[in-house]
Amino acid sequence: MYLVLARKYRPKNFEEVWGQGPIIDVLKKAIKEERTAHAYLFSGPRGTGKTSVARVFAKALNCEKNSIGKPCDKCEICRNIAAGSSMDVLEIDAASNRGIDEIRSLRENVNLTPSSARFKIYIIDEVHMLTEPAWNALLKTLEEPPDYVKFFLATTAPEKIPSTILSRCQRFNFKPFEQGELIKRLKEICKKEGFTIEDEALKAVYDFSGASMRDALSVLDQLFVNAEDNNVTYHGVKEFLGLVEEKSVGEILMLVREKDVKQLLVLFHSLLAEGKDPAVIMEGIIKRFKGIILERMSVGETTPSEEDKTLYGLFEGVETEVLLSAVSLVIEYKNRLRVENIPVVLSEILLIKLAQILGGDTALPQKTAERKEGKVQPKSKQVAKDGDIFVSERTVKEKPAEREDVVEGKASLKNEEEVLAQWKNILSEVKKAKATLEAAVREGSPVSFKNNTLVISFGSKYEFHKSLVEGKQSNIKIIEGAITKITGVKDVNVSLVSEGEQESPMDNGDVKKIVDFFGGEIINVEE
Ligand SMILES: [Zn+2]
Repeated sequence: MYLVLARKYRPKNFEEVWGQGPIIDVLKKAIKEERTAHAYLFSGPRGTGKTSVARVFAKALNCEKNSIGKPCDKCEICRNIAAGSSMDVLEIDAASNRGIDEIRSLRENVNLTPSSARFKIYIIDEVHMLTEPAWNALLKTLEEPPDYVKFFLATTAPEKIPSTILSRCQRFNFKPFEQGELIKRLKEICKKEGFTIEDEALKAVYDFSGASMRDALSVLDQLFVNAEDNNVTYHGVKEFLGLVEEKSVGEILMLVREKDVKQLLVLFHSLLAEGKDPAVIMEGIIKRFKGIILERMSVGETTPSEEDKTLYGLFEGVETEVLLSAVSLVIEYKNRLRVENIPVVLSEILLIKLAQILGGDTALPQKTAERKEGKVQPKSKQVAKDGDIFVSERTVKEKPAEREDVVEGKASLKNEEEVLAQWKNILSEVKKAKATLEAAVREGSPVSFKNNTLVISFGSKYEFHKSLVEGKQSNIKIIEGAITKITGVKDVNVSLVSEGEQESPMDNGDVKKIVDFFGGEIINVEE
């Protein structure tokens, strides 16, 4: 029988409890010194191990072997508690209807001594859901508890618990698992279960489960069922969870910043066509904004990726206050999605509003800096073309400067070297026209210039940057214009490739002839 992971990996003793070290230390010390309290309150987000710790604590207090902090898991008492069939350790779910009845009978039964164990322990889950009469019943017991009775209360909402109860509990706050911590644990579990999982897939599971171990494990359960060859891929996770790729969200934010409403709506509808849920798209936007804000406050949870850095840089000129109000707006619209049955319209309005709040008006950081140095024309002199306000007048209006060494038509080999050597200058030229574009292009490297085509290659880490450049035909035009301006070569084309799919040496006629002649194949190309 398949045992779900959350049950299979539920901690059986304190050593197996994850990520709550300080709490475990205090509880173990209390057992050792026989100074346990009558009532404990375990508060914290869902899936942080509150009820698991309560069960282990109950076993540790009642185990017949009584070895401190390490229940034997073999004696009858331990086994009954683990199976939930102990007469002395009773679990009550305060959120269920039955829970209310159980609290009522608690008052009567609490005076009966334990049947076999040392302590009679009540574990009350979601205790904040108790009704007024139930609180009163509980309070009366807490005021004069029999020596053999213990209460372990667990809650995700401690603020809803009456102060009269709070003051009688020893309180422990369970902290949410950190990303690294939970991912490490998930990795171990995958390994034990004989599955491999991509790092990106783990990160997606963590994000989706909101740091809850229980939720993360139940996602893993289902991923294992769907995995091919015991391998969980990011692609599989994305499909399963219906996630919107960070890349797509990054593109949305880029278009928002560029105030390109037309492209923004085109992209949004293409995501809808792929079956993405507007709420999930909004969730993705909130997450990226959160990343930007946290990074800005220097409290980012993880080191930002190259993609993140580009995106964060893009929003540098936007006040944090403005970003925060933008996030509030997305949250507001996401909530409205639930009650108003017009998800597409709401999403479109939201995207347009975001573009208005965050787009364009504020100069991009690079441009601001340059303008201060007097390198760039004031914004008022820039002209908009196709609604793209970042295309400067120079690039749009001016013809490439005529130079002595303008070469018409096909470039010679000498020209290839020359063009490649001018890469830095080409980038500067691109930057003048569109700073955001340069930020993306500079992550690529020029690899060849043949037949008037400059091939720019992007490493696998920079796929995102490549897609940003490719996103708009006007981007390619700007790069081509910059090449012409710097090198004097007219009618150039730009081709973007991913590393690995670069033109093979076989495309080179001479090499091909030689290889054909010897009837061999190319094994290694020495640079
Ligand atoms: Zn035991």
